[in-house]
Order: sequence, then structure tokens, then C-alpha cells
Amino acid sequence: MTLFHGLRPWVYPAPIQGWYSAWHKRSAAVLFAVLLLVPWIRIAGQPVFLADLGNRRLNVLGTIFLASDGVLLLLGGLFAVFSLFMFTSLFGRLWCGYMCPQSVFMLNLVYPIERWIEGTRGKQMQRDKGPWTWDKAWRKAAKWAVFIAIAVIVSMSFMGFFIPAPTLWTGQASATSYGVVAFFTAIWSTDFIWYREQTCNYICPYARFQGALTDDESLVIAYDVERGEPRGREAKARGGCIDCNKCVVVCPQGIDIRDGYQLECIACGKCIDACTSVMDRLGHDTLVRYTTEAEEHGATHQWLRPRTLVYGALLSVLTAAFAYVLWNHNPLELNVDRAPGSLYVVDDDGYVRNTFMLNVATRHLEEETRVYLVTVDGLPEDSQVRVRPIQLEASSRTTVPLIVRVPKDAVDGALALTVSVKGQEDSVSEETVFKAPRHGG
Ligand code: SF4
Ligand code: SF4
Repeated sequence: MTLFHGLRPWVYPAPIQGWYSAWHKRSAAVLFAVLLLVPWIRIAGQPVFLADLGNRRLNVLGTIFLASDGVLLLLGGLFAVFSLFMFTSLFGRLWCGYMCPQSVFMLNLVYPIERWIEGTRGKQMQRDKGPWTWDKAWRKAAKWAVFIAIAVIVSMSFMGFFIPAPTLWTGQASATSYGVVAFFTAIWSTDFIWYREQTCNYICPYARFQGALTDDESLVIAYDVERGEPRGREAKARGGCIDCNKCVVVCPQGIDIRDGYQLECIACGKCIDACTSVMDRLGHDTLVRYTTEAEEHGATHQWLRPRTLVYGALLSVLTAAFAYVLWNHNPLELNVDRAPGSLYVVDDDGYVRNTFMLNVATRHLEEETRVYLVTVDGLPEDSQVRVRPIQLEASSRTTVPLIVRVPKDAVDGALALTVSVKGQEDSVSEETVFKAPRHGG
């Protein structure tokens, strides 16, 4: 592109139709649907997915996870990480080619829009080499404006997973939220307008881990050197490479797969569609295909191997642990904290007083206000408890003070208590300690 010409060889991928390109469209449809629709979908009045960082609450498919559900979140996170490890060891970089937002945006939005506004690959290259003209200026300006508009929509939609979409899109979110949207808009705009394939080559950590996550049995894109070489027009009859360069010009990473496997390859399969379209006309199979290193060396592909078996076992254990914790998941959460700055107070009437703060949260989603009573077990005779009943609406949290008074003679230093919050449908308890002066101390 003219403004950045000379900084790196600019990639002008040509369009190609084919079996793999059709899958790109399908995966793009899924990603766009998730990005644009999920923030608006609600179950029982709650977002189907919302990571509400301010309230330390995660809504997933009608289930609410609170900060105290760290074990579940950790298990879920580990499951996602090991799933990606397993997927990569089996299928190499298929994620990069078909599901990564970067590739999906580039292949299905950025390059098609660029071709729509600036014309074919040849026209783009010719125009970029030439001087600035009105034709060139308006096309560049129009293209960048569209890219920035898409970046705004993408960033707003992404923020919709953290802030309720209706709040965000009606301008009622905080200034910080819109600041984050502006930040991501700048990142995506830079990516769409300029950085592009370099994100995969230099920034993406997943691409860097490929060497450790894959082995000879992982799926890669490879060129059939044996049949393909020597290349040239005379190779036509035997189904060799006719050096048409089509697999190179369609490559969004700007590489020539005939040079062997390269770290830049995102396994998108565009070069397969290109070679298939050429070789079909000549009556031969494609020279570029998905395969494995092992198959290239004549071995049979092994799906089951130590690495995948270990990942499979780990995923099974994580799934079982997640199911167990989820099954025993209490819809009510209670934290008993001592009131700030207070250990105990000895009142004039001979009672020792402790003040606690009860932080109570509910995950129930029904449109009703539930009432909970607080009880304290483990108290000596004549003790006093002062606390008001707790009222909680769907998926809400509240803090109420709890005052416990115990006759001074009945407690020596400390007393173990159990605080319970009980409703008609759910209850929760937590241990705490009542503090008092030591007798004779
Ligand atoms: S070499 Fe083929 S699979 Fe790899 S990025 Fe280029 S077009 Fe996609
Ligand atoms: S598309 Fe096939 S025939 Fe054409 S250059 Fe690539 S490998 Fe050779």
C-alpha cells in the first residue's frame, strides 16, 4: 500500500473459490453471529454471556458465577487451554485458518472490501505503484473509513461481553468503557489498514507455541515435491507443478508453500483451492494438501498417540471435576467479615460486642425478591444477636451488619460461631470467630 510502501512486501491476496474457501464463509458466519448476537441474547432476563467485571460476576447460559467460584473458573480456564493444546496437536493451525478472529476478519471482510473498493489484485498493485491521484485518494479514504467503521462495531460488540449491550449501545456506559472501546478501535483499525498478516507473524503468542504443541502427526499444509518437481510447462502431462503461481497469489500470508512448511502459514487452505482449480482442469489431483509430516514420509497417520492420550485424560478429569463442583454449586454466597477497625468492644452492661459485615449474594434468576433470616450458632446463654432480615432480588448482592453480644464471663478470648443465612429454597453457612478479652488478661 502506497503510504507504507517499502516497509515490507505488501500482500495482495487474489480471491479464490473452492471447498476450503466455502468453509471459511461458514466459520465466519458463526463468528459474526457470536460476536454480534450473543451480547443481545438473554435467558430468564439475564445475558446469555456477560463477564461483569465491576460486580465480579460471570453469567454463562443462565448460570451465574461469582468471585467465590474461582475453582470453577480455574477448571473452565484449564479446560479451554488443554482443549486448545489437544486441538493443535491433532489439527495443527486449523484454528488460525478458520476460527481465529484475525483471519476471519482479514479473509472475509478486509480483503473482499479492499477488492470491492480498489479493484482486482492487479489494479491495486498498479495503482499503488503510481502517483497520488484523485482516484487513488478517494478509494484509499473510503476503504480506511469502512475499516474504521468495522473496527468500531467489532470493538463495541466485543465490549458487549463485559457490559450489557443495551447499556453500551445507548451511551449509558461509563467513560472508561468507551475509552476501552476507543483503544480496541485503534488496535483493529491499525490491524485492518496496515499491520494485517504481521499480527500472525510477529505478535500472536499461539503461533510462537506451534513448535511445542505439534509433532509429526499434526496436520500441516504441504506441497507434493515428488510429483510437483521439476516445475514448468513440461510438467503438465505428468501432473507436476506448471508454475502458474496461483497458490502464491491467493496466499493471505504472502508465502510460497512450494518452499516447504513455513511458520507464517496459517493453514487456511487457500493454496489448496488454488491448486485444485488448476489441477482439475488438467485432470490431476492437487499438488497442495492437508497432510502430516509422518504421512509425507510414508507412515500411516496416527490420531491416538501419547500426547493426545494425555490431553484426553486431562480433559476427562477436568470435565469430571467441573461437573462435580457445578453439581454442588450453592446458589447462595456468604462472606462474614469483621467490621473495619473493630475487634471487640466491652459495653457498660458487661457484654462483649463484635460487629460483622455479612456480604450475601444470590445467583437465583427468578423475578422475585427472596427473604433470608440470619441465625448464629455456638453462642452461650443470654447472648444477643441483632441483624435485620435480608432481601435479595434476582442475581443481586447486599451487605448487612450483624451485631453479636455475649456476656463477658461466658467467653474467654475467642469463641467459634457459625453464621447461617436461610431462605425458603436455599441456605448457606460460614464459620467465624467471636473475639473477647481473656479472663484475667
Ligand atoms: S501457504 Fe496456503 S495454507 Fe498457508 S497461509 Fe498461504 S494460502 Fe494459507
Ligand atoms: S497452483 Fe499448483 S500448479 Fe500452480 S504453482 Fe501452485 S503448486 Fe504449481
